[in-house]
Amino acid sequence: MKNVDYIIVGGGYAGFFFAHQLIQNNKTFLIFSENGKSASQVSAGIVNPVVLKKFTTFWLAQEQISFLKSTLKEIEEYTGKNYLINENIHRIFHDKKEQELWLSKSETEQLEPFLNPEFKNLETVLNPFAAGSVNLSARLNVEEFFNDFKAFLKENNHLREQHFDYSIIADNSYEQISFKHIVFCEGIGVKNNPFFSEIPVMANKGHHLKVQLSKPLTNSFTLKKKHFLFPLNGDSYYYGGTYDPNERTNEIDDFAKQQLIEGLSEFYPHDFEINEVNFGFRPTVRDRRPILGSHPEHPNFYVFNGLGARGILNGCFFSKELYEHIENQKPLMPEVDLNRFSK
Ligand SMILES: Cc1cc2nc3c(=O)[nH]c(=O)nc-3n(C[C@H](O)[C@H](O)[C@H](O)COP(=O)(O)OP(=O)(O)OC[C@H]3O[C@@H](n4cnc5c(N)ncnc54)[C@H](O)[C@@H]3O)c2cc1C
Repeated sequence: MKNVDYIIVGGGYAGFFFAHQLIQNNKTFLIFSENGKSASQVSAGIVNPVVLKKFTTFWLAQEQISFLKSTLKEIEEYTGKNYLINENIHRIFHDKKEQELWLSKSETEQLEPFLNPEFKNLETVLNPFAAGSVNLSARLNVEEFFNDFKAFLKENNHLREQHFDYSIIADNSYEQISFKHIVFCEGIGVKNNPFFSEIPVMANKGHHLKVQLSKPLTNSFTLKKKHFLFPLNGDSYYYGGTYDPNERTNEIDDFAKQQLIEGLSEFYPHDFEINEVNFGFRPTVRDRRPILGSHPEHPNFYVFNGLGARGILNGCFFSKELYEHIENQKPLMPEVDLNRFSK
């Protein structure tokens, strides 16, 4: 029998950021994650303190961004790379009204740190009303983050790329592994978990394109009109993602693809070729807060889910909250506590 402090089920942002907490604290652990596309691996990697549709910020935005930056520095110590690309989002304004709204919001206490009041005229794309940049926004190099983190976990015998079968957990052991705690981080896969299938997580399907632009952009920052556009490598670009809370099928949806083509054509007037269409399911919660907590009958079984559209910031920040709760009995913030649903 092998003994570990933790088993983690799921290798997306929730599972990997929680694993980082265990690495930092010299805990022994194993992650089970089946191959297949997680929402995390198809995500754009955008780190954005502003909800651009509504011109608001969100709960703990500054704290979460600072914590992400320091966590990525810690990860750099063992993978050798920093995955944060410090290039701001540039919002292409739809019209004069939106431009004016940005200016007035940039003077409010809440948004002044984030909305740059000096506008830019961008080359290569249509932007008759110019663009505004979001201070403190950035993006994660998603592909390298997952490739390198996985390689590190494999080298250190922390990762099993296989399905976790809930039916064979017995007396705090799984196969020949005895564990002190188990943390379930399966994203929308939690619906198959008999211990936590009832948590109110809903799937929100998102598609993105990988495109080749006939006329490359002259800058490498992120553009945002309907969706995000930014360079990957060479002349390949990411464009996405859509939101569809009603679509559940495990295949590419032509309507979403068409939405993306139209969205990109709206501000990119040159030819482009679609190389890939990908999709994933965001685990969302009605109150837009993650879900952390333990099972009422199995107190060492934990859930870490509901990261929504902000998997990077939520996954990073709340992995530490959960770790402190388990190891040092720090109370969970009521806003993210699983118990909020039983009241
Ligand atoms: C198109 C798109 C774009 C996005 N863009 C952004 C963005 O720019 N910025 C941002 O912050 N967020 C973004 N998101 C949201 C973000 O991707 C999610 O919030 C996040 O990925 C959720 O992470 P997770 O770890 O909870 O779940 P997932 O990433 O889905 O990971 C769960 C993992 O668990 C595994 N698993 C499940 N059940 C089992 C089992 N029984 N045994 C073994 N393994 C299991 C799955 O295979 C999967 O690998 C985007 C999402 C989509 C779809």
